[in-house]
Amino acid sequence: MPIKVFNTLGRRKEEFEPNNPPIVKMYTCGPTVYDHSHIGHGRMYVSFDGIKKYLELRGYKVIHVQNITDIDDKIINKSRETGEPWEAIVDMYIEEYLELLKELKVRPHYNPRVTSHIQDIISFVSKLIKKGYAYESNGSVYFNVDKYKFYGELSGRLNNELWGQEEEFLSDKKHPYDFVLWKRRKPGEPYWESPWGPGRPGWHIECSVMSTRYLGERIDIHGGGEDLVFPHHENEKAQSEAALGVRPWVKYWLHTGYLMIKGEKMSKSLKNIIPLKDAIKELGVPVLRLWILSTHYRSHLEYNETIINQSRRLYERLLSAESIIERKLSEASQSHYDSDEDVNRMKILSSIILGFHEALSDDFNFGEAIKYVWDFTKFIHGELQYSESGALALLSKEFADQLNSVYSYRETETRGVDYEFFRSLVDLIIEVRNELRKNKMYKLSDMIRDKLSEVGITVMDYKDHSEWVSKKLKE
Ligand SMILES: [Zn+2]
Repeated sequence: MPIKVFNTLGRRKEEFEPNNPPIVKMYTCGPTVYDHSHIGHGRMYVSFDGIKKYLELRGYKVIHVQNITDIDDKIINKSRETGEPWEAIVDMYIEEYLELLKELKVRPHYNPRVTSHIQDIISFVSKLIKKGYAYESNGSVYFNVDKYKFYGELSGRLNNELWGQEEEFLSDKKHPYDFVLWKRRKPGEPYWESPWGPGRPGWHIECSVMSTRYLGERIDIHGGGEDLVFPHHENEKAQSEAALGVRPWVKYWLHTGYLMIKGEKMSKSLKNIIPLKDAIKELGVPVLRLWILSTHYRSHLEYNETIINQSRRLYERLLSAESIIERKLSEASQSHYDSDEDVNRMKILSSIILGFHEALSDDFNFGEAIKYVWDFTKFIHGELQYSESGALALLSKEFADQLNSVYSYRETETRGVDYEFFRSLVDLIIEVRNELRKNKMYKLSDMIRDKLSEVGITVMDYKDHSEWVSKKLKE
């Protein structure tokens, strides 16, 4: 089944064919470390992680770089406001960011910092000057947009349109839309020595330089939030293709949609920003990941109680489905003969698995794929539950493993716990409780349910049986 991706460059779906399969080189723009990461960042990180993990499930090996912008106007301003040295500010937020990524189970291979790559940046800018694409003016260096004829190709903006021009150093520029590659030093600002005098890199140049260093001259996937298409990615593209002499520098440009809080775009001005660490604390990583990966990455993602509760419910359903699968696996022997009912169930399960892969092969449509995850849990509770087929239990287990490899909902904090022993103990308690319920001893059975809930075990009573899930027990 071929994978199709929507490419921002050209704005159409294309068949996914990386430059050198099975390797996929992926670069995503990381944070500017002057403040806490918020759930908008989390959305971007987890969305691209879902894409990466699905590609890995399909046999690709993804090399992933996500940079850290650790020198920028915002950082310098924060230092002025707080009186803290800028280095202390960035160190603190970098530590938090890396910790959050780890918690979210997002693991880029490289998280390069701009300030560790100043010499690489200077060489790259020198190359652009040498090739005639950039010029020095009053100690700063600018990219000459007029010299690069494909400028505007990614965002669809043309040279004669009015862009969000950088007002700063306007008089230095040949054209108002030329963008800065190297900024000359201003009093009180951090700086590095360069052939053009002391200064610091502009924002866009870092991504071209660090992606080239770690991924080479061609990238398969470049990702970021949709607000980065212009000017950031347009500028990255222009300077990379100009300096490296390759086209296309990036084969597929992918952009994530905005995060919406109660119907409004999350933004500083609306004061509705939710820090990522608060969301992780409140929802837990599995529910947070399931929520983010319940919507197409290009669509706006809603943060509201109804949607979060659906993800919470799905998480519980997945865990209880896994207990059923484990039980069935341990009971069932190898299938020598399956009943007509079970053969039919196998068809249902196959079509769920197929639907899931069709959805994700179609531009990583997580919004569609999640429906099949729900169908799968329904299938386990409604069908596998009553089946004795070993084949069915095995395929269910394999598909659950695939789901976990993409959504990463199983937690691993209880490593070292003897799962089998734990499960048989809880099963025993539930069995005793069922006897109590049969004998209408509800007070005692309710007490057992409440006590179990206190230690993190949720019991769900159905008409003819009870199920339990434990948030502490996942793998
Ligand atoms: Zn970037």
